[in-house]
Amino acid sequence: MEPRLASLLGSEDLLHTLVDALGSPLNVVVPDQIAENAERFRATYREHHLTGQVFFAHKANRSSALVRRLAATDAAVDVASLGELQHTLSAGFTPDRIMATGPKTPEFLWLAARTGVTVNVDSRTELDDLAALVRGHRMPRRQVLLRLSAFEAATGVTVLTRPSRFGASARELDALLEAVERHGDAVELTGIGYHLDTTSLDEKAVALEGCIRALDACRSRGLRPRVVDIGGGFGVNYLADGGQWERYTTELTRAVLGGRPPLTWRGHGYGLRNEAGTLRGSLGLYPAHRPIAAEGYLDELLSRPAPSLGGRSLATLLLENLYDLYTEPGRALVDQCGLVLARVLEVRRTDAGDHMVRLGMKADDVSLEEHGVLMDPVVIAREGASAAADGESAGVGVYLAGSLCLEADLITRRMVFLPRLPRPGDLLAFANTAGYCMDFRSSRAQQQPVARQVAVWQEAGSWRWCLDEEYWPLRCPGGQP
Ligand SMILES: *Cc1c(COP(=O)(O)O)cnc(C)c1O
Repeated sequence: MEPRLASLLGSEDLLHTLVDALGSPLNVVVPDQIAENAERFRATYREHHLTGQVFFAHKANRSSALVRRLAATDAAVDVASLGELQHTLSAGFTPDRIMATGPKTPEFLWLAARTGVTVNVDSRTELDDLAALVRGHRMPRRQVLLRLSAFEAATGVTVLTRPSRFGASARELDALLEAVERHGDAVELTGIGYHLDTTSLDEKAVALEGCIRALDACRSRGLRPRVVDIGGGFGVNYLADGGQWERYTTELTRAVLGGRPPLTWRGHGYGLRNEAGTLRGSLGLYPAHRPIAAEGYLDELLSRPAPSLGGRSLATLLLENLYDLYTEPGRALVDQCGLVLARVLEVRRTDAGDHMVRLGMKADDVSLEEHGVLMDPVVIAREGASAAADGESAGVGVYLAGSLCLEADLITRRMVFLPRLPRPGDLLAFANTAGYCMDFRSSRAQQQPVARQVAVWQEAGSWRWCLDEEYWPLRCPGGQP
């Protein structure tokens, strides 16, 4: 945890007051942090002397406060639905700072075209639809980027980037460019891009190089695009200590093979399984320890050599061609930007003798399992009693159950280790959950409420708060973090 989030977690009275007033679970977001994260991406652009834009991938979090705070910086937003576009416009972003990505509904495409945001085109059909809309409604020419996928390394025939159901295959580039030329009265091609759902730097380097070659192809046809959009997926480093990650995954493997007591509910293996004493499958978890993440990952990618283009770095190639760089970080931009609080309702023993802690939340209120993110929550004692009770300072393993009448409603299937056994009335804080975990899957199952959301910030040394929808960045002149 970075200092801001750590300081918030230390404000135990405030966190209890908030949950007492607004209920459990409660989402807390830290808007000033997103501004700082955007600035870190900017700094990496500057180090490589690159111009362009950082687009926050809105789908990572629904908060108004985060988007409004970002509006007070020089960052932009990547919207992937009609609702996200409306939300972003209402937060103060003008269309020149918005890009519409992903496959689009007719209504989403219409509002994107009408307001004049850049359309990151997902397919040939979408390009035709957009051109027809622009002509039919006599709109000015609109700016488009083409999203490509399935890039091939220039040196071989093997497809090196994984297949995707989004974007058009790089092999279809010629047909796409013909369509762009045919629709020249309605659309202007400003760039080429990709978004790959992978942590692999090798694949991304192949894709980036593929975009630069695609831009060369555009130029040789007389088109003049100037943007390379490298999408998102810069990642977050959830765990500072790499040794802990090694030890945990080693012990999990031993548990799956029966070499030690289980570390998970009913021996769940997170993708690993024991077939007659042999380990099979692969670990389906987010790599919690990622020393190269966020802007560090961007820096690493830009520093890679481009083998098919003379071996100079990818950043150098962008610079020499005077191309603008677009990035679309989601998870990385909301790193350290929030936490989910839940009240402890009950602590009991299971038949197997394990401690089971029931929380005032459902698994979907902090979708850790869904995103493969493992974390131990922080216990926030009811009565300022951080001191270990009953000699339990050695730590205790517990399972965390949700509030649905479903056997499967476990907050996480792993046993989490807490410094002491929590008591009813304590809070558990799931820190650093603003990216996807907080609200991506929240539902009203069993008529239980969706978490309320508050924004918090520091002023004159103390934490202040308001409801998320009441937050406006009035106090951050110039938008500087
Ligand atoms: C989801 C998504 C992103 C953000 O991905 P992260 O892994 O959160 O950085 C960016 N661009 C597009 C098109 C996406 O679909």
